[in-house]
Amino acid sequence: MKITEIPTEGYEKVVRCDDPESGLKAIISVHDTTLGPALGGLRMWPYLSDQEALTDVNRLSRGMTYKSAVAETGLGGGKSIIIGNPKTDKAEALFRAMGRFVDSLDGLYTTAEDVGTSVEDMILVRKETKHVTGLPRDIGSSGDPSPYTARGVFLGIKACIEKALGTSDFNGVRLAVQGTGHVARYLCGHLHEAGASLIVTDIVEERAKLVADQYGATIVSPEEIYDVDCEIYCPCALGATINDDTIPRLKAKIVAGAANNQCLTVEHGDRLRERGILYAPDFVINAGGIINVSVELEPNGYNEDRALAKVNNIYNAVRDILRTAAEEDIATNRAAILLAERKLEEGRKSKTA
Ligand code: NAD
Repeated sequence: MKITEIPTEGYEKVVRCDDPESGLKAIISVHDTTLGPALGGLRMWPYLSDQEALTDVNRLSRGMTYKSAVAETGLGGGKSIIIGNPKTDKAEALFRAMGRFVDSLDGLYTTAEDVGTSVEDMILVRKETKHVTGLPRDIGSSGDPSPYTARGVFLGIKACIEKALGTSDFNGVRLAVQGTGHVARYLCGHLHEAGASLIVTDIVEERAKLVADQYGATIVSPEEIYDVDCEIYCPCALGATINDDTIPRLKAKIVAGAANNQCLTVEHGDRLRERGILYAPDFVINAGGIINVSVELEPNGYNEDRALAKVNNIYNAVRDILRTAAEEDIATNRAAILLAERKLEEGRKSKTA
């Protein structure tokens, strides 16, 4: 196993692993540990180039720092990726090699599941390192984070409809949900129960069909999702779907969903604001999973009631950010970044005091 450091400005540690024996090609990015050890999921994705993978893991890692800072989890930000196809390239040897790679950082970074990986994969990672969370409940861990992420996103969407539509009633509210994976499936359950109408898409058709059958959702093609008549565009697939091409097409009044890094750049948050579209900053609304996992790392171990109480607070966190942004006359994502930076600065000061 060859581990190479990639010096990266603004990041504490970025390392790459090449392991010809297992076929593992992976990167761990630790952005900032001012507020605690870095924690963030392990993504498996068929990146088209090493550069694309590096850019993605670093963006995700910084997002985790901000997410944990705002949610006050007592954790820092990190993320990891495996370059590979989750449908065809998964193997025990691969995830065990990943476990040894995580272990080589000696606790600086703790991993969890993310897009393309599952709790089952984490069980294999656990065979080689103790620095892994989100394992099954029956071994005292916090389990799949997705239901908690979904709950937080649902409550954050509620805060958004109150602000933008002047109602907390989901009846008659139409959502265009992009991606019907782990989080979106739970989220669609909450939305359906609350009376919302769902229009869904997924590049894997059976997944969209599952949600359509269960919650009476209408299916559209992945490309059509931006043009749908709806009140809310709800990105629950990958990042960067808020960009120059998509913003003019959106008919929604709100953008709120689970995906990380929804805006391609910070300026795309400004573009949404100019169009009068209310944006729930991704790392504020989708913090439910990391909040749940962080409770597992508390001295007394995991407690579901404590986790739920903290996840429920996402409603207030989103509402506060929307209010601050309005008061300061700035885009909501900028208000969220300023809040995260302020919390990091306070952390740095109290460390040096
Ligand atoms: P997932 O892999 O289970 O689901 C993602 C789904 O999106 C898949 O079904 C995939 O086929 C689909 N998809 C990918 N590209 C698409 C496209 N262009 N159009 C339509 N569908 C597409 O992942 P997940 O765990 O549900 O996470 C979804 C998003 O939420 C990710 O961005 C993830 O980083 C973020 N997130 C997840 C959690 C969590 O607890 N799982 C926490 C915070 C943030």
